[in-house]
Amino acid sequence: MITWTCHICHEERPDDRIDVLTTDLSADFGMPAGTVKQNVRYCNDREMCRIGARTKRLVHDALARKVLADGHRAEVKERA
Ligand SMILES: [Zn+2]
Repeated sequence: MITWTCHICHEERPDDRIDVLTTDLSADFGMPAGTVKQNVRYCNDREMCRIGARTKRLVHDALARKVLADGHRAEVKERA
């Protein structure tokens, strides 16, 4: 049987109890749509996990800064 670990409660659950919520976070980082996306796994039978999935941030600030820094460098290169 396939099992997945919930990103919210961190319990390992059977496949049919886990859903995936894809969120586009690009706008939060000032990036074009589709640049920064996350897939949050959550228990579809637990209210706490369903709510938690909407606010969970898997993309940490450190990664966001790296994405922005790389984007900035690419921009500079194009202008040169
Ligand atoms: Zn859960």
